[in-house]
Amino acid sequence: MIRQPIVSVLGHVDHGKTTLLDKIRGTSVARREAGAITQHIGATEVPIDAIYKICGKLINKKFKVPGLLFIDTPGHEAFTTLRARGGALADLAVLVIDINEGIMPQTVESINILKRYKTPFVIAANKIDLIYGWKNCKDEPFIFAIQKQKEEVQQSVDEKIYKIVEKLYELGFSADRYDRIADFTQNLAIIPMSAKLGIGIADLLLVLVGLAQRFLEENLKTEEGPGEGTVLEVKEERGLGKTIDVILYSGTMRKGDTIVVGSHDEPIITKIKAILKPKPLDEMRDPRDRFLSVDEVHAAAGIKIAAPNLENALAGSPVIVADDNLEEVVNRVRKETGIHIETQEEGVIIKADALGSLEALAYELKQEGLPIKMADIGDISKRDIVNAQTIGNPLYRVILGFNVKILPDAEKEASKIKIFTNNVVYKIIEDYKEWMDEKKRELEAEKRMEITFPGKFKILPEYIFRLSKPAIVGVRVLGGRIRVGQRILREDGRVVGRIKSIRSGENNVLEAIMGEEVAIAIDGVTVGRQVKAGETYYVDIPEEHARKLFKMNLSYEDKEVLDEIARIKRKEKPFWGL
Ligand code: GDP
Repeated sequence: MIRQPIVSVLGHVDHGKTTLLDKIRGTSVARREAGAITQHIGATEVPIDAIYKICGKLINKKFKVPGLLFIDTPGHEAFTTLRARGGALADLAVLVIDINEGIMPQTVESINILKRYKTPFVIAANKIDLIYGWKNCKDEPFIFAIQKQKEEVQQSVDEKIYKIVEKLYELGFSADRYDRIADFTQNLAIIPMSAKLGIGIADLLLVLVGLAQRFLEENLKTEEGPGEGTVLEVKEERGLGKTIDVILYSGTMRKGDTIVVGSHDEPIITKIKAILKPKPLDEMRDPRDRFLSVDEVHAAAGIKIAAPNLENALAGSPVIVADDNLEEVVNRVRKETGIHIETQEEGVIIKADALGSLEALAYELKQEGLPIKMADIGDISKRDIVNAQTIGNPLYRVILGFNVKILPDAEKEASKIKIFTNNVVYKIIEDYKEWMDEKKRELEAEKRMEITFPGKFKILPEYIFRLSKPAIVGVRVLGGRIRVGQRILREDGRVVGRIKSIRSGENNVLEAIMGEEVAIAIDGVTVGRQVKAGETYYVDIPEEHARKLFKMNLSYEDKEVLDEIARIKRKEKPFWGL
């Protein structure tokens, strides 16, 4: 027996993944008679009979492959990175590229994922209908539609394909238009199409079935054995409690079977209470009654499993039927659920919704040379934020979340650190890098701005130049230093005015040190009221700075001034600066 290959659709946002899947579904739904499509949970099955019908004259032989099973959730990278036995769950992939836009960052990211998992794929060069001068040809195979186009339009299609071919070459692939390829093992097939108009759908299905038949036959053999699948999603379902949506890729699952499912902690051992499939639309009388219960199901299929104790089941983890080999299966599930990501002493915290997506994020970070301190599955919790706060390097004090939410109790704490979430890996990394650059600049500026040092000065009675707005007076710096911008502390603890400028001889300067005599302009005071000639004043030090100063190796004189300031401050606040 050969099962249907599992196909995932990926590509840059807006290039047409959803439209393509909808069209495939719609095209086969329209054929209600024999070989109509079967709706699965999380997947759409296009049986081989439907493919024969859709392809018509394009196909002149029979295939052993019983059809194609498309994983339904496009653009959700967690699904393209789903694993089965440590490899990719998808046997084949369709990489959608907008022919007018070409290869974009997310396309490259998708290619990296496919390369890493060694998943064979084809390219759907979508939106040919937007090429200038294109004549409709709705629902026709591409190779017929192209012949009906004007010479310039045909050329234009080829030019655009060539641009993609060039880019792919730089990425290490030899590619060509599918109808010009002789050896599909050496060349990546490009199928020009319009998902919107249904052009090229037939060609795409044909190439996929052909590839599966020729190169995947061995992988697609399924024995009548215990079922093995991958958890797509863990979902609360009314009347059923927590259920798991599963793609069954091997063997059979039956009601009552003991299954082992991956979880955050120890694998879950439970019994299948019900296997559910979607009800055909025309049998669905009550929208709440969406499922049909079946006794058994064979690979490949998308199903929902209801069973006790699924609360902690983990998306992306294995679900395997066990009989008398329970211990062995538990060990296998434990091993396959483990997170194998290299972590460092110093680095960022990453979170994702499934194992595959976590690995995808980790992989891209590694390419960028960005270290990871902690990697885990699940939404961003308060604990993650507490952990992030302990990261020493402020540039790494962040959480990067891929396809995850910030939990309500974490939301309150979220302002304490920086969190980047997105469902596109490159966006997370791009945003983080941008923030990092900004943060670096900020840190440098902070460093340059120094801390406020202690200072003490006396207003010289013989040098009162102006009484107010601003007051301008001559001073002698008795200890430490004074700086432009600093506020003035009186011996009674009141803070008054602000040093607006300092003039030394003919020059404006930023600071004056012990022993210097300078003229200062003070905003916000009137000589004779808030400040008086002949009196001594201090620099007002923010408490935060004082704490640092107390730990620093200050000179004897600086330390003395600091102690005097502290004495003034502690009259009101006994532990100031400690
Ligand atoms: P996704 O983000 O990759 O899933 O992209 P969508 O399938 O949502 O498509 C993005 C936009 O492109 C939508 O407005 C679609 O209607 C449009 N679109 C998709 N395929 C085609 C196509 O073949 N031709 C044209 N003209 N528009 C398309």
